[in-house]
Amino acid sequence: MNDKLYPDELVCSLIARKVHYLGKKGYKRTLHSMFGSPHVQNKYDLPSRLEDLSHATNLEVDELLYNHTLYPYYYSFLTDKQRENLTRSMIKGAGTGRSPNQYAGLTRSLIRSNTQLFLCPLCMKEDINSVGEPYWHRAHQLPGVLVCYKHNVMLHSCCPTCKSAIGFTTINEICITPAFCASGHNLTLTVQNHDENLFIVAVESYTLLRGIISDNTIIQQKYLQALRNKGHINKLRTSVIDHHFLMEQFFERFSPEFLRVIHVDIPQSDNKQSWFRKILRNQYTKNMHPIYHLLMMVFLSNTIASFLNISIEKDFNAGRWPCLNVACNFYREKVINRVIQEKREGNVKPLGVFECPYCGFTYSRVGPDKKRDDIYKIHHILKTGDLWDKKWEEIIKIAKGVKHLIRELKVSGTYILKKLRDNNLTHLLGGHEDFTKAQEVVRERFTIFLRDHKSTSRTELAQINRRDYWWLRNYDREWLEQILTNNELVLKKRKLFLEITRKNPKATRTELSEINDVVYRWLWRNDYDWLQNHLPPSRRSGKRLRHLE
Ligand SMILES: [Zn+2]
Ligand SMILES: [Zn+2]
Ligand SMILES: [Zn+2]
Repeated sequence: MNDKLYPDELVCSLIARKVHYLGKKGYKRTLHSMFGSPHVQNKYDLPSRLEDLSHATNLEVDELLYNHTLYPYYYSFLTDKQRENLTRSMIKGAGTGRSPNQYAGLTRSLIRSNTQLFLCPLCMKEDINSVGEPYWHRAHQLPGVLVCYKHNVMLHSCCPTCKSAIGFTTINEICITPAFCASGHNLTLTVQNHDENLFIVAVESYTLLRGIISDNTIIQQKYLQALRNKGHINKLRTSVIDHHFLMEQFFERFSPEFLRVIHVDIPQSDNKQSWFRKILRNQYTKNMHPIYHLLMMVFLSNTIASFLNISIEKDFNAGRWPCLNVACNFYREKVINRVIQEKREGNVKPLGVFECPYCGFTYSRVGPDKKRDDIYKIHHILKTGDLWDKKWEEIIKIAKGVKHLIRELKVSGTYILKKLRDNNLTHLLGGHEDFTKAQEVVRERFTIFLRDHKSTSRTELAQINRRDYWWLRNYDREWLEQILTNNELVLKKRKLFLEITRKNPKATRTELSEINDVVYRWLWRNDYDWLQNHLPPSRRSGKRLRHLE
């Protein structure tokens, strides 16, 4: 026999071949010669004492780690500390505290490691032809992998004819890769796979096994970027991820039945602790089982390689930003060279805080900046500073109303209003122009207008109702943004619903509500009249649907 490791061969497979060659009594001798001790308990996936093995096999420790264990697969998504511990316990073994499986988080994971070894009948044939004997491959032992990534045939963990077991996972019981089962059935019998997703999971698991991910620090940011690119953002609640919608899409890609087949727990969208939601949160992204990452990456980007190619948009353009204090000598000049960026929990969009080093005027803006002019936008004023305050004191004495103040101070109408209220200067509102009243009138007029133009784009709205649109944009921008994004959300949900009715032309009301419960309920609450007009005629009086509200 050959006592070298074959390509992609598991460490335990070499031991099994040696023991087989020497006979049962050779077991302890083999362990002693390979690990320097006859009492080594090694797992097939993450064996330890590789330093000893390295001496015995004349292979570098790294080569053993990366080419003959599942180390690169599990290593991908661990924290730095876990990586360090896992590496040490695999190289040194005894005396490092915990076992490699514990360090890799496998003992706590809901994803169970395989308890039996798998083989591919076609790889087995190839091995016999190329090296003269079959052996256990790493790529066939990954969780959730049921087919060969190379041949797309079902892997065997038992005899396909009589179902008797063919290989075990502890060293004591492990046997060489058999060509026949105990009853003499031929194990090279192949069963073709017809599930595309099973094949994808096998191929992508092998990608992880080859160690494609070394730097895992930006994975969470890439998830958020991918979500941003795909528009999976709930605009109604200022860019919080719409988990219900996202999960619906995920199940269209990987159905619950499929997840059951590959032994992955089915996530619930309202459970914040489910893997599907945790994986997107920064504090959990590392320390999640690789199969979860694999599914998420394939869902968002089709392959892991293309996911890793996603480039993260810079959140704020340019390396310098302008002071936006009209009273400052550096007004609109790029004198700020530092942005304090705040990631907000659950929020996809970043918030930048900018402070002028000369006048202290401090403002924030929600990123990412898209157009060049975005750098002149203010989301909130956090601090005005002495210069601006002085200008305010002067201007307030001669103020001719809100419009005048906005023009002179170059801040939003909302901010001026707040400032006037805070300083008990509301009489200024009624002076030249009654701002609040005007605001009320325009808001109401625009709301009615919007009701009749639900499917009109923003640009068209601005053209058709130029007067109100621009008034709101200048003096009441936050309200305008809010109502327009609401409008866009309605459109999105309507489109989804029409899609459902198109695909299910014969469905009853109840069936439609069950197909996409989330969209249905949303429309029921927010767009009742439209929904009623687009539902099939009710069979009963409609009372039975009330419970959905
Ligand atoms: Zn194969
Ligand atoms: Zn059999
Ligand atoms: Zn300034």
